[in-house]
Amino acid sequence: MPILALDAGTTSTRAILFGDDGTIIRQAQRAFEQFFPHDGWVEHDADEIFDATLACARDALDGQHADAIGIAVQRETVVVWDPHTGRPVHRAIVWQDRRTAERCQQLAKDPAALALVARTGLLLDPYFSATKLAWILENVVGVRARAERGELLAGTIDTWLLWKLTGGKVHATDATNASRTLLFDIRRQQWDDDLCALFGVPRQLLPEVRDSAADYGTTDLLGERTPIRALIGDQQAAAVGQECIAAGDAKATYGTGCFVLVNTGDTPLVSKHRLLTTVALRLDGATTYALEGSIFNAGSVVQWLRDQLGLIATAAESEAVAMSVESSGGAYLVPAFTGLGAPWWLPDARGVLTGITRDTGRAQVVRAALESVALQTRDLAGAFADDGVPLARLRVDGGMAANDWLMQAIADQLRVTVERPAILETTAWGAARLAGMHAGIYPKLGTPGFRSVEKVFSPGGDVERVNALHEGWIRALKTLQGS
Ligand code: ADP
Repeated sequence: MPILALDAGTTSTRAILFGDDGTIIRQAQRAFEQFFPHDGWVEHDADEIFDATLACARDALDGQHADAIGIAVQRETVVVWDPHTGRPVHRAIVWQDRRTAERCQQLAKDPAALALVARTGLLLDPYFSATKLAWILENVVGVRARAERGELLAGTIDTWLLWKLTGGKVHATDATNASRTLLFDIRRQQWDDDLCALFGVPRQLLPEVRDSAADYGTTDLLGERTPIRALIGDQQAAAVGQECIAAGDAKATYGTGCFVLVNTGDTPLVSKHRLLTTVALRLDGATTYALEGSIFNAGSVVQWLRDQLGLIATAAESEAVAMSVESSGGAYLVPAFTGLGAPWWLPDARGVLTGITRDTGRAQVVRAALESVALQTRDLAGAFADDGVPLARLRVDGGMAANDWLMQAIADQLRVTVERPAILETTAWGAARLAGMHAGIYPKLGTPGFRSVEKVFSPGGDVERVNALHEGWIRALKTLQGS
């Protein structure tokens, strides 16, 4: 009784067919085009995302019939479309797109607007969907009038894929995706009319919000009447895939950037460090919340070593090179390529390499680069602890989690156990896990024996040395702040 997971990410989409014991049967992946029409603008062709996702699904199924489909997606990205033609009125505006920065700055001057935004658990930032949606309404000729007449539909990528898969029958989203839009009251669990008015988004454009595991209709595009039983945002899906379901459970996904989610149970905690309060999961009407923080540059630092500096030939080589020396010899790389996120929040800062001497060579720079990822994780963990959710252990995934040396360095810096699961495709697995559970094929979340850990990294190293490395890092950060 296989379960099909669709994982529509930011640069590629994939489909993975899981067996009823949770093992991978078959998978397929396709990249899609990134459009950068102006500096800071990022767009996707929503039709291309759907076509690529459908093609992957067919490849992964290879003629088999899935018993349920679960869909995980890049979050915050918005699409507006005409349900009569089935065509988007504009390219999707991607979460990375900064075109509405000025609009957000203007709105942020109004204390009443900020009070409304507090209902969402988010910050007034172009990252989230609302101002992107408003931009399409304001800038594509005729779209606002058509939206107000109820002639158009809008949604995040999950909603778009669902609408296409069900042949236009279901216009819905789940609470995790809704919680990233700036239009959703995370405590009352509904679209907020005041926020819709603030951003100028007609309420009738928005999809119905359901539980993350629910009945989302069926599709006839992948064999007859295949039920769609889960929608979820990608980071939340990874948390489910790692079975982070109890308060205090934490996961970090180390990809290009790093996203850390800590489950806070049924309490939507408000951070003192500008961490986001978000919906981790909604099942049977019960909402689980999380605090979320991110490191802007993680795997991208390794890409930079490889592509810009030519210090390593492959990302994986960073591990052996870092291990070839005893220390980075006082060198620190602060990879603030695009500013620094939580808990420092220095959006205009740019990176530095400090403490270099005649002895600083390739290996020291590579090691300092990997150390920067561990040190940033420690700073982020400090913010979580200060907000009342100290990490008891950390579950890791993403491409960078393959690096044993780095995972050990993280365990050493955080002084907690780092666990790497057997399935590294945690995002797709989280979507499949929910869909399979709703279909009665997989057991309830938290069932022992249904999650396997491949490797555990226990905190080690000499504590004084570990702390000295962190103190040096804080000094390096100070040079960046100009103090
Ligand atoms: P994304 O989903 O953001 O594209 P992935 O989860 O596929 O990212 O992870 C890819 C990133 O991980 C790349 O930035 C790459 O540099 C980094 N990476 C992959 N393998 C390793 C490794 N063994 N050591 C360090 N970094 C790695």
